[in-house]
Amino acid sequence: MEKNFSLRELNTFGFDVTARYFQELKTLDDVKELLGNSSRFLILSGGSNILFSDEFYDGFVVYPNLKGIEILEENDETVMIRSYCGEVWKDFVDYTVSKNLYGLENLADIPGKVGAAPVQNIGAYGAEVKDTVYQVHTIDLVSGETKVFSNEECQFAYRNSIFKQFGVCSLKFEVRPLIYAVDFKLKKHGELKLDYGNIRNYLISNNITNPTLKDVAATVKAIRAEKLPEVGVVGSVGSFFQNAIVSMDKYQEIKSLYPDVPSYPVDDHFIKIPSGWLIDRAGWKGHRENHVGVWDKQALVLVHYGGGKPQEILDLMKKIQESVQTKFGVEIKPEVNIV
Ligand SMILES: Cc1cc2nc3c(=O)[nH]c(=O)nc-3n(C[C@H](O)[C@H](O)[C@H](O)COP(=O)(O)OP(=O)(O)OC[C@H]3O[C@@H](n4cnc5c(N)ncnc54)[C@H](O)[C@@H]3O)c2cc1C
Repeated sequence: MEKNFSLRELNTFGFDVTARYFQELKTLDDVKELLGNSSRFLILSGGSNILFSDEFYDGFVVYPNLKGIEILEENDETVMIRSYCGEVWKDFVDYTVSKNLYGLENLADIPGKVGAAPVQNIGAYGAEVKDTVYQVHTIDLVSGETKVFSNEECQFAYRNSIFKQFGVCSLKFEVRPLIYAVDFKLKKHGELKLDYGNIRNYLISNNITNPTLKDVAATVKAIRAEKLPEVGVVGSVGSFFQNAIVSMDKYQEIKSLYPDVPSYPVDDHFIKIPSGWLIDRAGWKGHRENHVGVWDKQALVLVHYGGGKPQEILDLMKKIQESVQTKFGVEIKPEVNIV
């Protein structure tokens, strides 16, 4: 166990945060040795969806880093693959694409580790990881009990799952699961999802009329590189806010003032409005305040240019939330885990 460990390289915002205690876990035995050391742990993987609210984290950070990828079984239609939690997500996606397996191509180049992917049911370009997760292997950090969660038991939803509330494992929860491996069921023959974002247009403009799985993954990567800050160069956690879910009445009220408001149906009563559009229309896109700001190519992304403190992002977050609330009467909630 390390004391006063710097997490600067372990959070993609790039804040200079120190943890009182830190331990890397490379095997399940490492996890078992940890039991009893604390009643409260923060699980940190790639740190690409965490905002530390202070520069000193006065607690115990565990860094699960079990490695390995195994093909478990295979038939004419599907392949079951297990990846341990410490594998880098984008490398895992590249591996599946290189094997011509369908299911993860639209999730190419999302930062972070495999173990965190089910936590917020990562999604991009019309795909969500829930559609490929077969089961999730966990170990309780306090009791040491192992449990396998079926896809259904994971309770996947939009940027959510049963695991999201347990990132900070504490005695007060009945389950405190650390995800140590994930089994994915991928298809040998599949349909490509081209109708989300700019994928189809990008393919057409590059004269790709009959795209392969690899073309789609490469396209997603190219579009992401144009729109999002590069990890390690500009600090961010990707989308800082969740999209807003509003009532039909509220949507009609906004539409009467802004006929071009984009929207996606949720059910008969609610509708989703991209928070990036709300933030942009409230005038924040490209705005900079000292060391932090709003990314000029995507207003949903808050950025840290370096040398700043977490409080600056929290202050900016509050100002944006208040301004969107005042202008549209809509509450926007953070997608990032604030600890
Ligand atoms: C530039 C950029 C672009 C992004 N684009 C997208 C995108 O398109 N779609 C998307 O969904 N997300 C996106 N993200 C967010 C982020 O990459 C994902 O949420 C990713 O899955 C987080 O992985 P991580 O390993 O960094 O997790 P961390 O940030 O370390 O942790 C995230 C949460 O998961 C918990 N956790 C982590 N590992 C485990 C584990 N093994 N067991 C149990 N709990 C665990 C943590 O306690 C925390 O609550 C983006 C981020 C950046 C910086």
